[in-house]
Amino acid sequence: MEQDLLFERLWSGAAAMEEWTAAVSGGSAKPITDSIMAIHTGYLFGNSTAIRTDAGLVLVDTGSRETASQTFAALRHWADGPVHTVIYTHGHIDHTWGARLLDQEADARGTARPRIIAHRNVLYRFDRYDATHRLNSLVMGRQFNQPGYTFPDGHRRPDEVYDDNLALTVGGVRIELFHGRGETDDATFVWLPEQRVLASGDFVIWVFPNAGNPRKVQRFAPGWAAALRRMETLKPKVLIPGHGPVVFGEERAVQVLASGAEMLESLTRQTLDLMNGGGSLDDILHSVSAPANLLAKPYLLPKYDDPEFVVRSIWHLYAGWFDGDPAHLKPARAAELAAELASLAGGADKLAQRAAVLAEGGQTRLAAHLAELAATASPQDKTIQATRATVYERCAAAETSLIGRAIFAVYQRDARDASLGSAAIAASPKTSRQLSPLPPPSSTPLPSCC
Ligand SMILES: [Zn+2]
Repeated sequence: MEQDLLFERLWSGAAAMEEWTAAVSGGSAKPITDSIMAIHTGYLFGNSTAIRTDAGLVLVDTGSRETASQTFAALRHWADGPVHTVIYTHGHIDHTWGARLLDQEADARGTARPRIIAHRNVLYRFDRYDATHRLNSLVMGRQFNQPGYTFPDGHRRPDEVYDDNLALTVGGVRIELFHGRGETDDATFVWLPEQRVLASGDFVIWVFPNAGNPRKVQRFAPGWAAALRRMETLKPKVLIPGHGPVVFGEERAVQVLASGAEMLESLTRQTLDLMNGGGSLDDILHSVSAPANLLAKPYLLPKYDDPEFVVRSIWHLYAGWFDGDPAHLKPARAAELAAELASLAGGADKLAQRAAVLAEGGQTRLAAHLAELAATASPQDKTIQATRATVYERCAAAETSLIGRAIFAVYQRDARDASLGSAAIAASPKTSRQLSPLPPPSSTPLPSCC
């Protein structure tokens, strides 16, 4: 199977991933061999891989709540036999949600439900999801700037779990599962040695690795790099990533794997060197940089996560939550500190005015500190809230990552609303537009990934 024209444009950086999403939306089947097919429904939703065997179908990942019906339709267009085995590459909902459709189909047909296999930690993940359902709804809504989002529940647990690796033979096809820690602690990559096809799960996602997500549980940059190196030694002929188009050809597949590994190794090494030298988190955040040649690759652009967030995650992995600033060990209440500083500055409004000047001059990081101190010292002051909204608008505009932009946009909206008061918003939408143009909540279906 050859690369297609759109792939070549993605590979060279001439096309954006949105173009590929438009091309595959509604559900698209990509033949890999006569008995293997990749199914795509758009960049933001996990891919699936279907394998035909003499015992029935094997499915690697099952699609998201938003698009699993498309995944399922594409599968059934290709083959009608029973689904014998499902492998979750990890427990994120855009990879697992569709399993319930397979169960429903089996129940309707009166056949056995598929056997689901995953790493053991998927079980713990789903227990955690049950315990933090409302938190996850909040975090996902904020991460993607979609107020009112509800996280799925009723997660389909695996029937069988493994720890380090697992070799299966299903209907005469050998399938090897390897565990690694990367975006999650429950990740699996799937290797078909006879065909030399690799389904990497979210170890490969066609953007800079999502290894530092600010509001999610610990991620594992060094483990991620190690897993990519292990995949590299397999020399796959075909790489089916967790998100984005299939990469055909050993040279390109290995290049994608090696570049991702090199990026994460560099960030880990730089961070650890400074940590071992006694550096504080503050020193490290402002010293470590992602290698520019790697960051420019079309499959490593920091469009979703941010290298700085990954540095924080590496720090946290090795050193816990304390950042090395003694004032942060047992800090005062934020409101107390803000009141003290506002008083020293001659009033909260002085802090806000300085924030506006700094933001105007492009010093958005510093501006955010002062705007937040001003609003914390004087939360009812609508002028200060209006300044705060403007500062976060500028912070959002300075971000390359979707996560960074969305989080700033959430606080921009909160500040904008506080600056107007709910009655004022209802009475005068014109005023709100003049005050601060607010990025609208995402109009695309919510990406349910990671
Ligand atoms: Zn994913």
